[in-house]
Amino acid sequence: MNADQNKFLFLLSVILVTILITEPHESYARPLSSTYDWVKVDASSALDQTVAQNWITALDEAIDYLPEDVVKIIRGQSGLNITIITESNSCVNGYANGGGVAFNTKPADTGCPFNWIPLIQDGFSHNEMVYVALHELAHYYFFYSTEDGKTLKVFLETVAERGAIEPGGEKIVWRELPATIYPILTPGWQIHEDVAEAFSIYVMWPDILKKNHPIRYAFMKKVFGREYFLRVPMPDSIKSRLTYNPNKR
Ligand SMILES: [Zn+2]
Repeated sequence: MNADQNKFLFLLSVILVTILITEPHESYARPLSSTYDWVKVDASSALDQTVAQNWITALDEAIDYLPEDVVKIIRGQSGLNITIITESNSCVNGYANGGGVAFNTKPADTGCPFNWIPLIQDGFSHNEMVYVALHELAHYYFFYSTEDGKTLKVFLETVAERGAIEPGGEKIVWRELPATIYPILTPGWQIHEDVAEAFSIYVMWPDILKKNHPIRYAFMKKVFGREYFLRVPMPDSIKSRLTYNPNKR
C-alpha cells in the first residue's frame, strides 16, 4: 500500500466515523416536529408517534399551499399551537379554537350524526389528513386567529347575512344553495363549516368547487389571491360528503 492509498483509507475512515456520530439514532424518540419553527406541537407520549408525525407532515403540506398573507395571520405573534389527540368517542377529525388547532387521530366511525363515509374508515390517508389540516386552518384563520381574526369574523358574518361590499366596491356574496356540506347544522355553525370546507376544497379539488359552487369559488379566489391546479385524487369519504343529502338519511 503506498502513501496515497493510506491517506485515502484514513480519510475514508474519518468520514465514516463522522457519519456514524452525527446520524440520529432511531432508538432515541425523535421529538415531533414541523418544518415551520412557529408550529408548536403538543402530543401525548402515549400516542403513536409515527401517526402523530404523519399529521404534522400533512399540516406542513397544507401550510405550504397557503399564500404568505394567510400564513402570516395564522402564524400570528406567537405561532400556532397544534395538539394531537385521540378521542375515540368524538366524531370530529379535528377542531380549532382561540388556543390553536387539534387533530383527532382516532375519531368515532359509528354513531355520528352524518351518514357519509367517515375519514377514519380504512385509516386516514395522507390526502385526507391534508384536507382536515386545511379545514381546521380555515377555522383558525377566519374565526380565531388573534390579530386579524375579529375583522374576518365580522366580515364573514356580514357575507353570511346579506352578501358584502368589498372596499373596492365589487359585490361578493357567500350564500349559495345547496351549502357545500353540513346543511343540517344550525345557521350559526353552518357558515363556519361551509367556509372551512370551501377553503380546503378550493386548494385540493378546485375544479369541483368551481363547477358546483362558483360563488364560493370566487370568494376563495379573493381570499387566496391565486388559483390552484393540483391533481389530487378525491377520496371516497370526501365524495360522500359533497353528495350528502340530509333528506335521504
Ligand atoms: Zn369544521
